[in-house]
Amino acid sequence: MGKTIFSKIISREIPADIVYETESVLAFRDINPQAPVHILIIPKIEIPTIKEIKGAEHAKLLGELVEAANKIAEAENISENGFRLVFNCGSNGGQEVYHLHMHLLGGRQMKWPPG
Ligand code: AMP
Repeated sequence: MGKTIFSKIISREIPADIVYETESVLAFRDINPQAPVHILIIPKIEIPTIKEIKGAEHAKLLGELVEAANKIAEAENISENGFRLVFNCGSNGGQEVYHLHMHLLGGRQMKWPPG
């Protein structure tokens, strides 16, 4: 499979507004924000969708993604009022980029059900 746009952000081939980085995780602002704060949190290793996740193999990585979200939410001042974390999966899930990513959305009241 060819490189996704997110792999190119990891390798710095294309620019992004990076807000957080560790050895295994990268986070950057969504180019088309759906809330005042809209950040994508991704693993640096290539995993296409949430369907590929195995507990034994990826538990630590998933913990790191959520920990990143919590730290970024604090830094962006959206932690106290709350926020939403979303994984879109596959076509019906609305996934456009096939490099696993978690959306962190906040800074406004979220609605339910989502569209
Ligand atoms: P999804 O629909 O869950 O696959 O989400 C993909 C997200 O990536 C969308 O919210 C896009 O706005 C966002 N996106 C696409 N290209 C870029 C980019 N170059 N930099 C930042 N965000 C992007």
